Amino acid sequence: MSSTGTTPLRILLANPRGFCAGVDRAIKIVELAIKKFGAPVYVRHEIVHNRYVVEGLEAQGAVFVDELDEVPDDVPVVFSAHGVPKAVPAEAEKRKMIYVDATCPLVSKVHREVERHQAHGRHILMIGHAGHPEVIGTMGQVPPGSMTLIETVEDAENVMPQNPDELSFVTQTTLSVDDTIEIVAVLERRFPGLTKPKKEDICYATTNRQVAVKEVAKQADRVIVIGSRNSSNSRRLVEVSEKAGCPARLVLRAADLDWDWLAGATAVGISAGASAPEILVEEVIDALKERFDAKVELVTTAEEDVIFKVPPMLKDVA
Ligand code: SF4
Repeated sequence: MSSTGTTPLRILLANPRGFCAGVDRAIKIVELAIKKFGAPVYVRHEIVHNRYVVEGLEAQGAVFVDELDEVPDDVPVVFSAHGVPKAVPAEAEKRKMIYVDATCPLVSKVHREVERHQAHGRHILMIGHAGHPEVIGTMGQVPPGSMTLIETVEDAENVMPQNPDELSFVTQTTLSVDDTIEIVAVLERRFPGLTKPKKEDICYATTNRQVAVKEVAKQADRVIVIGSRNSSNSRRLVEVSEKAGCPARLVLRAADLDWDWLAGATAVGISAGASAPEILVEEVIDALKERFDAKVELVTTAEEDVIFKVPPMLKDVA
């Protein structure tokens, strides 16, 4: 990557950024399923929220659909990293389909928490975003009416559970750490007996990426986040940068860069959502190097070594 521009520019590269262990595993699961069963392998929902990743898997023989009824009975199907309501594997079993569940183990952990609360007779508040597949999947672990979605501080102020003494909460794994603290504070004030998660539901990857981008935002005058519009944790990285006082933009790849917006910047921060591949980060750095005399500085706030195993069904081809 050689620099051809003459205007100096510091590129502050957030570390950690990009792929998390759950996304890495989900992509591997689709690739291994194709290796084991041959193409096509159907995937219910975008395996991870990134068009580039999805198109790469389509080229290998994956077929993405929204619902299980679009999958023929005799073709293997993979469920996405975001998790699915219980009704989905139940339907696959009824149809005697071969299915592989790529739900991130950290999302599955929240599913088990929800089941536990329900077994103890507690109503469950889910802090998350309406319509996100992870929220649909988590709320689909228990019968309808067992959970209430809380999206904002106002929702937390207004929720009226039938029995406030038997109340618990869980969260989506990809929320803003700071916003969630505010919502939880309201719930704890209103419901002192509230049962909390033993360990934070917001996952290590979300937390680490937000801490790193916040550090970068302190030193940069613009922040570029590489990720898709439908990626919750990528959008949170933009919000975290802006809350830290640095204007930020979400781009899928280098072609989306807004050069007018970058004009006059002397230090540009770069991060990437957990579903964005490193190759797109490199593409953005290369594009900046073509226009500026750019030097990359790594801003490291944590080291990650988390790896999740693939399901036993695919071990023979792993
Ligand atoms: Fe799992 Fe967190 Fe990655 Fe989601 S962002 S797939 S919960 S590690």
